[in-house]
Amino acid sequence: MSKVYFLKGFDRLELKMKNILADFYSAKNKVLIKIHFGEPGNKFAFTPKDIKPVVTALDCLGLKSIFIDTPVAYNSPRNSIKGYEKVVKERGYDQLSPFLISKKSKKIKTKDFVAGVCQELIEAENVLVLSHIKGHACAGFGGAIKNLGMGGVDKETKGMEHSLSHPRFATECQGCGICAKLCPAKAIKMVDNKAKIDLNSCWGCSICQLQCPYKCLEPEKALFDDLLAQGAAAVINNLPKRTFYINFIKNITKLCDCATNPGGIIGKDIGVLFSDNPVAIDTASVDLINELNKKDLFQEINHKNPLLHVNFAEKYTNKESDYELITV
Ligand code: SF4
Ligand code: SF4
Repeated sequence: MSKVYFLKGFDRLELKMKNILADFYSAKNKVLIKIHFGEPGNKFAFTPKDIKPVVTALDCLGLKSIFIDTPVAYNSPRNSIKGYEKVVKERGYDQLSPFLISKKSKKIKTKDFVAGVCQELIEAENVLVLSHIKGHACAGFGGAIKNLGMGGVDKETKGMEHSLSHPRFATECQGCGICAKLCPAKAIKMVDNKAKIDLNSCWGCSICQLQCPYKCLEPEKALFDDLLAQGAAAVINNLPKRTFYINFIKNITKLCDCATNPGGIIGKDIGVLFSDNPVAIDTASVDLINELNKKDLFQEINHKNPLLHVNFAEKYTNKESDYELITV
């Protein structure tokens, strides 16, 4: 059973981090912090103010922080190295620590594709995966597994995770219209009482495949959640032994930090979780959110089991989801 440490609220973050991480990293060295800097315009993603206690705590332990992220595949200033560097500076992170937008990837075979894994991350001596917990249109929710499965791989791999899950008909459509109603990309229209799918608009979220009551639809290769977990495992299984995870449960929005407008707050702020196990920390995050909000929040809002990709990641990484929650 893995230990997941829970800090209620955010006030004592620096102190608690120093205690929890006192003996974890090799001191007097650098720590690569995997972070999502947020899409321009997104008001709920991490800010330098949120992250400052983390950097200060590491500094007190003799560790120099360097932020890292990878360029995105969709149309955004963040889809080129130069464009993303500009965004990071505009959001003020460069005032806190040096940063790096990854230029290199290493090919690693997964079950269904070859992933291009962020080389700087897997070659680092110390890594901290810092994740903002929020909803996600394709995965239901995004935490540590999403931060690495999509954020720790190159643009080509991101594209494959979305396209290898495109739907196709396994049997004839029965015309119920549920997929058209739930599709977040509005890629399905009912024409003559049959679902018509525009794959050019499809995000590959697999919601239609999972929700069709007649099981008419199947993924091109595998469910989105499975592909995301395969990408995450390609990263996690190659990260250094000294990799630690922190999840911030704050500003829980419907959609992820990649959206300019992530759809507003959907749940209560809770606090910060710490663990050396990404599967356990994400499981604990969802459990705490559901307990406090008294509902299966992401399933209800985004029509996706938020732990589906986490369960696939458990299988591919051999990291257990069982955890002991320790309040600090
Ligand atoms: S996978 Fe299905 S539900 Fe998801 S975006 Fe594509 S068509 Fe819509
Ligand atoms: S959910 Fe299934 S049966 Fe219903 S419209 Fe979509 S494909 Fe057809």
